[in-house]
Amino acid sequence: MKNTTSPVQVGDFAIGSSNFVVMAGPCSIESLDQFSETANIVKEYGATILRGGMFKLRTNPETFQGMGREAFDIAREVKKRTSMPFISEITDPRQVSDMAELVDVFQVGSRNMHNYALLKELGHVKKPVLLKRGFSGLISEWLLSAEYIVKHGNPNVILCERGIRTFETATRNTFDVNAIAFVKQNSNFPIIADPSHGTGATALVTPVALAAAAAGADGLIIEVHPRPSEALSDGFQALTPEMFKELMIKLERVLNALDRKIEKPQ
Ligand code: PEP
Ligand code: MN
Repeated sequence: MKNTTSPVQVGDFAIGSSNFVVMAGPCSIESLDQFSETANIVKEYGATILRGGMFKLRTNPETFQGMGREAFDIAREVKKRTSMPFISEITDPRQVSDMAELVDVFQVGSRNMHNYALLKELGHVKKPVLLKRGFSGLISEWLLSAEYIVKHGNPNVILCERGIRTFETATRNTFDVNAIAFVKQNSNFPIIADPSHGTGATALVTPVALAAAAAGADGLIIEVHPRPSEALSDGFQALTPEMFKELMIKLERVLNALDRKIEKPQ
């Protein structure tokens, strides 16, 4: 089947072209040292876009809610040191103007796929938007959420499959690999995979990442922490630096078999 994906440009990288783009970093920015250390690691092993949450939407209000605006200076400094484009989640339309100077991609989290006020606001900026699938969102609803952003003026939407809620409880979510193949065949939006939230278990991230790549994903977003047991959020699904390195080696093999390659850092 012909690839009809319209690529979305993030810095020097075109997401949705033949090259595969890897985004990686910690679930949350915790300190300058932690974010800088993680960024150096993921860059060394071949990630091209850096992730790091600043505003966290946590199920439990008693848990770490992210550093918020205190993380802005840290993110700015690490971006400068690594020259990597930066993706971070926006949780409120009022954050758009402040975040626009800092992020290269706005991430809309699973819990906000139906937040039409936020989607409309992101239509007014030209920055790319990574739209995660709501954990109870139909693919049809997800594609319509993407159209909200496009209709309001921003065509630069990248979809992200991050697992859905099913009757299965053995894993945090059920990664829907069907969605990857379906979106590639029935939509023009690029789609990347988040096997970290899709599985919720460190040991399952690599096999599911490889499956997503084989199914035609345009890239991955992976949570990595230098010391997962010390992470302030989602440590149970973070890859260690060593595991991330292994994933990148295996990923290259899978993509090579499909005549594709990983986008390399500049
Ligand atoms: C995240 O990326 O850290 C996150 C909160 O993801 P999701 O919105 O998919 O739960
Ligand atoms: Mn997370």
